[in-house]
Order: sequence, then structure tokens, then C-alpha cells
Amino acid sequence: RFKALVVEKGADNTFTRSLKQRDINELGAGELLVRVRYSSLNYKDALSATGHPGVTRQFPHTPGIDAAGEVASCSDGSFAPGAQVVVTGHDLGMETDGGWGEYIRVPSSWGVPLPAGLSLRDSMILGTAGFTAGLSVLKLEWAGVRPESGDVLVTGATGGVGSMAVSILAKAGYRVVAATGKAADEGFLRDLGAAEVISRAEVMAGAERALMKERWAGAVDVVGGEMLAAVLKSTRYGGTVTCCGLVGSAELPVNVHPFILRAVTLVGIDSSRCPSATRLEVWQRLAGPWRPALLGQMATEVTLEGLEDEISRILRGGVRGRVLVQL
Ligand code: NAP
Repeated sequence: RFKALVVEKGADNTFTRSLKQRDINELGAGELLVRVRYSSLNYKDALSATGHPGVTRQFPHTPGIDAAGEVASCSDGSFAPGAQVVVTGHDLGMETDGGWGEYIRVPSSWGVPLPAGLSLRDSMILGTAGFTAGLSVLKLEWAGVRPESGDVLVTGATGGVGSMAVSILAKAGYRVVAATGKAADEGFLRDLGAAEVISRAEVMAGAERALMKERWAGAVDVVGGEMLAAVLKSTRYGGTVTCCGLVGSAELPVNVHPFILRAVTLVGIDSSRCPSATRLEVWQRLAGPWRPALLGQMATEVTLEGLEDEISRILRGGVRGRVLVQL
């Protein structure tokens, strides 16, 4: 038996979370059984833990879209027992019981060998947030955005994806402008490598117009809604914007002008079904040239018992950096 955080759905559509002993036989099918050592908290996990039907519909359920640990067994021989492995995305923590339990069982194709240069702990400080930030930077690169192209904006900059994007872009040599709602965290963002820190209001200034002053060679957006619309309207000719999140809104109230007058490109980012060759490339870069300089200090560490407060904090947009879960 093992310990896990279990979310249960009540008759009146309320959701409760508690720590329970579970049986390994209750886990779903899959070749790979992992003893989880670390997981993390992402915005999506908070949605799953509070019963958001867009993430999880089957309860009882153990959230956690990220997990890292040792292979307990692997029935198709893809991993040796004891090997260190990282599992992020796919269906983990959505309908498949996730990393907020001491064991996960998943298809072996979901496992990524822990990249050389990262500890299990490092891999989960990065987690889906770091992976998504890395994938966003890779796609900016594929679109031709280079350090010499000009400033790159990151929205939601103190959050998980945002803080990782600031660090990775700085490491890759870009001049990073970090947009945040937390003026008090300017020092944190500068330490991560931001050359400039601006308020959300500064991103939005002039957003009522069809097009805004050209500012960004590229941008990593996690907010969506009016903010993503303003970012597109202020992206320079030929620039590229990645879109991965919806903490502001899932709507995108924008006209076609940035696309037809400034040749701006909007690139979608999905970490969960990302093809495996790209997945491996992003992890290799995260372990090597993109490894955030302050990685060890970018997370608040909690146990399963400490998650409750952090779930409400992330839903309020109040998390700074990453929340690491130790099991
Ligand atoms: P997070 O840690 O909560 O970060 C989000 C940050 O956005 C907040 O810390 C805050 O930063 C800012 N923010 C929050 N509410 C806002 C609002 N109403 N308007 C403007 N800014 C706001 O969350 P995360 O785990 O990084 O995830 C961020 C988003 O990316 C989520 O929507 C998540 O679902 C999505 N995501 C998508 C993928 C994918 O594969 N597509 C993968 C990972 C995450 P400041 O206070 O600094 O502004």
C-alpha cells in the first residue's frame, strides 16, 4: 500500500482532498511502475484537485501531471529496475492517477530517462512548467527569433512557466522583458535574468487600438485573453508569439491586423501530447545549455500535507516560481 492525495467528488458536486492509503492494484494499466520521489504543482493540477471538468472527470482521483522517481518494475524491459525516470504530460494526473502519490503506473512510452546533469529534484523543479517554457523557447527559435532580433516579452513572469521562460531565455542570450502583476517581485525576476520588469498595465497600454507600437521580437504568453491580444498587437514586424495558457482568459479578442499587416506568427504550445523526439530535445536542453542558473532556488518545497494552501495560492495567481512536492 502507499500514500496518496485523493480527490473525491461529493453528491452535491463538491470536491474534497485527503491523504489516503491506496493499493498498488488500484492503479491503471501500464508497463512502468514508478516509486515517485518528487512531483510538483502546476496550474492544471490545481484545476484537477478542485474538480475542473476540463482536466479530470473521473473521481476518486490522484492529481499530479509531473512525477520523478525510481523504476519499481517495467514489464516490457524499456527501463531497468532502479533506473531514474521522469514522467510529465500525456494523461498523467488527468484521468490517470498522478504524481501526488508514492506510486504511478503508466505506459513505458511516457517515461523519459532522467537526463544527465539533472537530479530527480531538479527535474521536478523544472517539471511541466520548465518543459513548457523550454518548448516555447524552442518554437521561438524554430520561427527565427534570435537574441539579436530584439526584446522578448514573458507574461505571467513570476509564475511557474513564466519564471522558467525568463531564466531559459536569459540563459540562451535573449534580452528578456518580464511582465508581472507582482511589483514586489522585481528583484526575483532580475535575479532570474530579466533585463527589464514591467507591469501588466504597461503591456496593455494602448490595447484599445487596432495595432500598438511595435515592441517585441518574440513573446511567451501564459495569460491568454486581452493580454495575449495586446501582445500580438505590439509584436514587431515578422515576430512570433507562443500561446500556452489561459490564466487570464481562454478567449482571444484580437483582429487580423497583426497577422496581415505585420506578418506576426502565433504558435500554439501543448506539452502533454508533444512528440517524443521534441520532448527529448527539450529535456536535453533543459539539462544542458538552458539549465536555469538559480534552479535550486526557484521552488518552494512542500509535502503532500502542505499542498492545500498552495492549491488556493496558485488559483489566485499568487505563486512565485515553482512548488516542488516531496514524497
Ligand atoms: P502559475 O504558476 O499560476 O503562473 C501564472 C502567472 O500568471 C501568475 O503567477 C501571475 O504572474 C500571472 N497571472 C495570474 N492571473 C492572471 C491574470 N488574471 N491576468 C494576468 N496575469 C495573471 O501557473 P503555471 O503553472 O505557470 O501555468 C500558467 C498557464 O499555462 C496556465 O494557464 C496553465 O494551464 C498553462 N500551461 C499550459 C501548458 C500547455 O501545455 N499548453 C503547460 C503548462 C502550463 P504575475 O503575477 O507575475 O503576473
